Amino acid sequence: MANQEKMSFADFRKRFNSEDACREYLYKLRWPDRFVCPQCGGVDCYHIKGRNKYQCVQCRHQASVTSGTVMHKSKLSLRTWFWAMYLVSRDKRGYSATQLAEELGIAYSSAWYLLHRIRSAMAGRDSDYMLSGIVELDDTYFGAPTEGGRRGRGTEKVKVMVAVSKTDGKPGYLKMEVVDNLKGETIGDFAKACIVKGSVIQSDGYLSYRKPLADDFEHQFKVFDSKSDMLKWLHILVGNAKAFISGTFHGLADKHLQSYLDEFCYRFNRRGFRNQIFPRLLCAVANSNILGYADLTR
Ligand SMILES: [Zn+2]
Repeated sequence: MANQEKMSFADFRKRFNSEDACREYLYKLRWPDRFVCPQCGGVDCYHIKGRNKYQCVQCRHQASVTSGTVMHKSKLSLRTWFWAMYLVSRDKRGYSATQLAEELGIAYSSAWYLLHRIRSAMAGRDSDYMLSGIVELDDTYFGAPTEGGRRGRGTEKVKVMVAVSKTDGKPGYLKMEVVDNLKGETIGDFAKACIVKGSVIQSDGYLSYRKPLADDFEHQFKVFDSKSDMLKWLHILVGNAKAFISGTFHGLADKHLQSYLDEFCYRFNRRGFRNQIFPRLLCAVANSNILGYADLTR
């Protein structure tokens, strides 16, 4: 399982062809050494056969391999989850709900729901990372260009803050976040939430960036010059993110933009582990926090 490229989808389906096979794999991911009660931390449990639950001896809480995760109470089989995660991680262009529904023979609404939950687990995993060292910081807009002065449906431009760390001139980790406005306070909040205090931040010379970054970071800024290398990686990655989104998810509603940005960043941040995307994604999903349907449709 370490090397995904060596396993075809046909082989993968054979390996994970039953609920038991998937459950067993998830159990090992979730509790690699021994069962730990999510309620009280107790380590002794009874397996409730037939219900696929584990009852804690100490507090009697009943846990399953999916409880508390984004797979919790899903009506879809574990097999469908596994197969979806395999397909999502295999194709670096991303998978649309239409493609996934067709490939797995499930309803479009199920595929959509599944993909959003997978992206939520991706976002959860990346939220633990903080950027450090030298970090390029800027804001950008996402949304279809205005045509003939008229905006079409869903083309309202959305403001996005972007930060990418650099090591020896090469990009490290990437963060992208949809924001309501580009006020100094918003910029400062974004930087403090995802960049380690004391890091060097490079940005354009906007006045709104100066004060909020002054206390916590070493801020290097200059008026943008398209001929210089300033913010080079950030601009390349924003271009790539726009191509990723318009290539696979064209026409998406603005309210879901964050979810697609999360997927783009997750994939970019693991670009050095292309063959391990599936086990890493499964690990992210198995250890994710629950996200209700209401959160997705907001
Ligand atoms: Zn317990």
